[in-house]
Amino acid sequence: MTLFDDRTGHITEEGFAALAGDTLDELSRLELAEHLSFCDLCCARYAQLTAQGPLEQPSQSLTEPTMTRIRGRGRVILLRRALKVSVAACLALTLWQTGAFSALTGLSNGDTASDWRLQIEQRRNLDAMQELNEQQTDEPAQTLNMKISSAVDHFFAAIQQKGETDQ
Ligand SMILES: [Zn+2]
Repeated sequence: MTLFDDRTGHITEEGFAALAGDTLDELSRLELAEHLSFCDLCCARYAQLTAQGPLEQPSQSLTEPTMTRIRGRGRVILLRRALKVSVAACLALTLWQTGAFSALTGLSNGDTASDWRLQIEQRRNLDAMQELNEQQTDEPAQTLNMKISSAVDHFFAAIQQKGETDQ
């Protein structure tokens, strides 16, 4: 019996047939299994040979339940994303209105160069907010969005500044 093709080194048709049957000794079976473990070509051929025959049909369709679950999951993800954005906006607005931005970047001790830079940046942020407040009296309808996005910007800028200073 020739299990391997001398020319290509792959498993022969005879080898596959023997593998499917019950006539192989332990050593030959091991040799074939070892070859299958690394040879994609023979593995695909073996899968093709063993997968012949009709496909199993589920007793009921799985398409609709699966699609329903996928749609539900999509809604949850969207909802979470929206929630995250509005929480960030609320947080930024609250911090802004209570003056916590200054507290967040407030300096207690030391007078290093980075502290100085931070103070300048903080002053710049306050100026920008003041400017925004003045604009708001002119066009109240337009500025809510600006207010929120600017508050979020300043919030993250302040956190980043603080992180850099802490290092
Ligand atoms: Zn092979």
